[in-house]
Amino acid sequence: MASITDQIKNFFSDEEQTSLRGLFIEELQDIYWAENHLVDNLPVMAKAATSSQLRQGFEMHLQETRNQVVRLEQVFRSIGEEPESKKCEAMNGLVKEAQEIISDTTEGTMVRDAGLIIAGQKVEHYEIASYGSLRTIAQILGYNEAAQLLEKTLEEEKKTDAKLTEIAESYVNMKAKQENTSNASQGTASR
Ligand code: FE
Ligand code: FE
Ligand code: FE
Repeated sequence: MASITDQIKNFFSDEEQTSLRGLFIEELQDIYWAENHLVDNLPVMAKAATSSQLRQGFEMHLQETRNQVVRLEQVFRSIGEEPESKKCEAMNGLVKEAQEIISDTTEGTMVRDAGLIIAGQKVEHYEIASYGSLRTIAQILGYNEAAQLLEKTLEEEKKTDAKLTEIAESYVNMKAKQENTSNASQGTASR
């Protein structure tokens, strides 16, 4: 928790922009925007999925993501800040890529799921990088409660990433390849 003196000092100086604490807060605002954006867009990804396992995976992670938003609010308050968000251009772009995958693939295909998994893993990797760094900076700044909360979310993102890999490797990629083969060989002499 920042002391009142620190908060006043920060308010009257450029420190919010230049100090490590200031950087930490800005990065928190970025990931707070990103998580809220995911709460709005994970349902679209879940709905677009072909296999029920992938759809359930996205739905489960939507629940976790809602908790992560609340957890970030706890992080802000634990250091004496009100939760605020700052547009994350990267997450905005990653969600656009997921939407592109949906519009570029056919409904009900495993190729779509293979694409959704790629999009989902790009999102998780961005989050893993963010939470790993934020956790470490929280530790350095002595914000132990914040560090623990961030670590918890980091673990959820890693598990989600691993689960997406597992879904891809257990059947999605193979079935997607078979779909491609049957499409590509349509009308050839061998069929
Ligand atoms: Fe998240
Ligand atoms: Fe960002
Ligand atoms: Fe995530």
